[in-house]
Amino acid sequence: MKNLKKYVSLILSVLLLTSLLVACKGNESSTKTSTADATTESVTSESDTVNEDTASSEYPADVQAIIDRGVLRVGVKNAVIGFGYQDPLTQEYSGLEISLAKKIAEHLGVEVEYTAVTAATRTELLDSGDIDCVLATFTITDERKESWDFSTPYFTDYVTVLVENASGIKSLNDLADKTVGVSSGSTSAKALIKAMIEGGIISGDNFKEDSFDPATWTEGVKFHQYDDYPTISTALSAGEIDAFCVDKSILAAYNSDSRSYIADKFAPQNYGVATKKGSGLTAVIEQLVQDWLADGTVKGLIADNGLE
Ligand code: GLU
Repeated sequence: MKNLKKYVSLILSVLLLTSLLVACKGNESSTKTSTADATTESVTSESDTVNEDTASSEYPADVQAIIDRGVLRVGVKNAVIGFGYQDPLTQEYSGLEISLAKKIAEHLGVEVEYTAVTAATRTELLDSGDIDCVLATFTITDERKESWDFSTPYFTDYVTVLVENASGIKSLNDLADKTVGVSSGSTSAKALIKAMIEGGIISGDNFKEDSFDPATWTEGVKFHQYDDYPTISTALSAGEIDAFCVDKSILAAYNSDSRSYIADKFAPQNYGVATKKGSGLTAVIEQLVQDWLADGTVKGLIADNGLE
């Protein structure tokens, strides 16, 4: 009998212990859930603090170095009206890319310093560290993404061709066997050849996307490459070239009563902010561009600069 009592009390103790353990386990998992929620909240509020408090050490070292320097150095165009334009009299810069650069600097709590770049110099200056980022009608391409980081696009333009009215050139068809001026380091020549192939104007049998070189291309059109756009415009007036090919936004500054665009526009050009590959600035700028696309800031700046 004594043994039976002992046995029953042992079973009761085991049952009690088991139910206590089960109860504890339930509490533990609910504690874990609420801890996880609290962590997410605190990360969110921490990142809010980073946005407001630019002196925070939450930034990667290269971004912190820009903050410590007090200046964000940005490569911009100086002759693309509505994007990056420097008034020759006042030296003031204006345009969509100028405003976006200024806003990025404001976010970091630093001054902005503009360096005029061309299609040929913008990547050298970024690579050498002379500038921190590029906002210069810089088209995002898969090939370029291998060498530099790009933000989500903030604007899409197209390539077209400017000619002297007297030339009688009105379409891609009329360009056959002509000489076309393009900027070194630009997407323009390849875009034109692809459009001519798609239009059935040239065969494309010899076109190779990866190894295309405007300097040696002879099928359908020939190219002359220049370091800057004013020189291409002068070459067009002088009859050194028959046509000037680049993004429409860039051509606008060189149009006149005696010149016209051909009817075709082709090859969408998505402009992104470029940073050094792996730079800490890449993620900071990407977040800002995404925010400004979502909240209408980019749309507003596009309208303000007459780019709609
Ligand atoms: N947007 C084109 C490019 O990135 C044209 C060149 C330029 O931006 O000057 O190649």
